[in-house]
Amino acid sequence: MFDNLKPSLRRKAFWAIDAFRRPSVRSQLQDLEDQLSAGPQALAGQRERLESLLTHATGSTEHYRPYRGCKELASFPVLQKRHLSEHTDAFQSSAFAGQPLPVMFTSGSTGMPMQFRFSPLKRCRQRAEVIYFSELAGFKLGMRHANVRIIRSKSVFRYWMENQVLFDPSVINEAWLARARKELKHPAMVYLTGYARPISVLASYCLHHGDRPDAFSLSSVVPTAEGLAADERQTIERTFGCRVINRYACQEFGVLAQECPNGKLHLNTASYVFELLSLENDSPAAPGHVGRVVVTDLFSYAMPLIRYDLGDLALLNLEPCPCGNPTPALAELQGRLVEMILDSRGQMLSPFILVNNLREVRGITQFRFLQRTADRYELLLVTAPTFQEEARVKNLLREYLGEKANIFINRVNEIPALHSGKRPYVINEYLKESLRCGSGATLQTGAGNPSPLLGGERILPNPFRALNP
Ligand SMILES: [Zn+2]
Repeated sequence: MFDNLKPSLRRKAFWAIDAFRRPSVRSQLQDLEDQLSAGPQALAGQRERLESLLTHATGSTEHYRPYRGCKELASFPVLQKRHLSEHTDAFQSSAFAGQPLPVMFTSGSTGMPMQFRFSPLKRCRQRAEVIYFSELAGFKLGMRHANVRIIRSKSVFRYWMENQVLFDPSVINEAWLARARKELKHPAMVYLTGYARPISVLASYCLHHGDRPDAFSLSSVVPTAEGLAADERQTIERTFGCRVINRYACQEFGVLAQECPNGKLHLNTASYVFELLSLENDSPAAPGHVGRVVVTDLFSYAMPLIRYDLGDLALLNLEPCPCGNPTPALAELQGRLVEMILDSRGQMLSPFILVNNLREVRGITQFRFLQRTADRYELLLVTAPTFQEEARVKNLLREYLGEKANIFINRVNEIPALHSGKRPYVINEYLKESLRCGSGATLQTGAGNPSPLLGGERILPNPFRALNP
């Protein structure tokens, strides 16, 4: 009977408990609402927050101590994941020494184990960000919703109070799909969020079983963590009869940006300072060019993260957005660096070129493309038994990867999820290794000389023919 508890009562229960918290989620939610609706005036508040963070970081952590007195963000070094993973202790603030703080572990996209500590304020901020951006997507706290992700820490009580059904995507099989399909058809189920790929597979499954949009009551689907191919997005919208709203979020921070009705990703400038830096060095990316997303978390007091290079590539939106949202926006998120592909000539390709092409080949039900070395590539395929297009697929790949490419196609029964639960279409082990060791990969520059792609802390590109005009 408690399962039928109204969303409004759950909401009241949530806020009643929150009223006893110090700091509270409500105060952070109010702050987000104030800051993100204020437009340019909010920048003064951001500046003040940044100064407090820089003073705190330089006064209480070993890594930032040499920068004491620096007030400009640009004076601080860009932080690479590799450095953070190797020197985690140097980032812990002595102001929180001895306090039992929540710790989050991640294997990270580059395979390096990472560890993050959050202050109670940061924890509240993260929850407030999820509530704020979910409300923008039409979801209110307490409404029935499903989340596709691997979480091991949340209590059963919290799932119940938040009215959340968890779809753990570690193994996606017939039983998982059937259960998720049934749950999604619950008349009160209004919102679906989580990893993009399993959501896309689920939509195809429902479509395949003849479901029409009126079988669902979903009002929005909010995929996170992985990029969606254009046809996957269409399939989700067509199946569930609702809008897909992309969210840019990560575990080490929180919600960084969310898509507006005009398809732009508006940035959460109330919680973070964003920089788009050049692919060649640490100067700002030229307007209209793809840059690396570098983030400073204004609330990372237990473990300050200043100018943290997320490993994502994006394009800034230069015009004011017609949706009326005053915060700056990304025109496009290009994906993760470790999901980019280097062709056999050393030029970089966007993964979507291959993904969109492969998804059009009939008979391929699943695939994963791996770059093993500078010129060795492997395509794992799960196919229909009658599939006979291997030679065509190989030719298609060669067209993009170049004549010297060594391409191996392996038919398999299943493509497993990564430890994180994600199911990327593309994994560049060659780049990953370079990121881990800080050497190895080379990229052909415009002058025809091979340059260390990720040697030291630099990324040397051009021509990024698929990325920059
Ligand atoms: Zn907009």
